Amino acid sequence: MILVFLGPPGSGKGTQAKLLAEKLRVSHIALGDMLREEVRAGTVVGKRAKEFMDAGHLVPDELTIEMTRKRISEKDCQTGFIIDGFPRSTAQAEAFERILAEKDLGLDKVVYFHIPEEEVVKRLSERRSCKNCGTVYHLTNRPPKVPGKCDLCGGELYLRHDDEEKVIRTRFEVYEKQTRPLVERYKKQGKLVELDATGSIDEVFQELLKVTAFALVP
Ligand code: AMP
Repeated sequence: MILVFLGPPGSGKGTQAKLLAEKLRVSHIALGDMLREEVRAGTVVGKRAKEFMDAGHLVPDELTIEMTRKRISEKDCQTGFIIDGFPRSTAQAEAFERILAEKDLGLDKVVYFHIPEEEVVKRLSERRSCKNCGTVYHLTNRPPKVPGKCDLCGGELYLRHDDEEKVIRTRFEVYEKQTRPLVERYKKQGKLVELDATGSIDEVFQELLKVTAFALVP
């Protein structure tokens, strides 16, 4: 079972990917989380990626494609995975197809999360992330029990620099130009399933279960 979650920043694809991966007991690959981890650890990759991420631009393909290739090669991904945040451009989609073909794996479906830009801006400016474990909260819809602290590890919650309004607008533009063309690509391949991502986490998850029902049947 290999699923790609596609959609604009703030469409909730990371949150939903995590929930579905737990339910299906498959691995969840989140390129944005992996990149932030590299930045936190101060690696060579992290140092190169940071300026692109802070500006809301895509990190160069050679970094993300290599990271994905390595991650997919790990043992826990051999029975399937859900990937969000990759591919994000036609070049990445082509590389992804090559990587899967090399491993004799096939992409099952691409879930496309629909959401308008203004809803994204509203959502992301209220998003808070844990500095320590990366868990995501929302000040109105999913507030932490103690303000400013992570429920799971007690880590400090912060507003990601790239969740500030100016950067969100840039990320949305980048999405429209570079990532959105993939919708047509996967439609043509007959792999696209679409859902309305404007509801609550639970509502969207129920819809997600419907459109991925094929994966739940034993
Ligand atoms: P995300 O957490 O998925 O919203 O990603 C945060 C940031 O990481 C993006 O705005 C990009 O700068 C970078 N990033 C994540 N995935 C990719 C990718 N597949 N290609 C290039 N840059 C990426």
